[in-house]
Amino acid sequence: MGFVYMTSFGGIENRLLIASARNVKDTFGLDVRISSVPFPPRLGLNPVRNQFHAGTVLSYLKQFSFPELVRMLAVVEFDLYEEGLNFVFGEAELGGRNAVVSVYRLRHPNEKVTFERTFKEVNHELGHTFGLTHCTDPKCVMSFSNSLADVDRKTRFFCENCSRKLASALTPYR
Ligand SMILES: [Zn+2]
Ligand SMILES: [Zn+2]
Repeated sequence: MGFVYMTSFGGIENRLLIASARNVKDTFGLDVRISSVPFPPRLGLNPVRNQFHAGTVLSYLKQFSFPELVRMLAVVEFDLYEEGLNFVFGEAELGGRNAVVSVYRLRHPNEKVTFERTFKEVNHELGHTFGLTHCTDPKCVMSFSNSLADVDRKTRFFCENCSRKLASALTPYR
């Protein structure tokens, strides 16, 4: 047993964080705890790009430890980038502990769309922490998203193949 700890940086509304937590519970079968973690102002901020460096935010999460922590996920309001990429929707340690998702580019006037997109990216990044790599099935949540159109094209569910890998990665925690 164990918990996925979720936190948010940059002013994510509670409704979205709580709905995302429920989605994690439903998708991974793991209990979720929402936890408050301080965010150092401007951590990872690149003032020229006016974006935050995803790897820096991800590394920052490593120092935090909570009881029975299985995974740690931060949902952030600000835009993330990585070297060589204009932006990233999120980043995770492959087969590791920590993940980060940005809602910045997922926002839509219809809250339902924003939430659904967030669930997809949360499931995708958590999938990476359970060792899953990118999938060629365009409907699978582990397919790579380079644009919002890609996010909207895929579902928040794992294909049969990825589900099988995920189930085996989750066995120690259930
Ligand atoms: Zn990915
Ligand atoms: Zn797949």
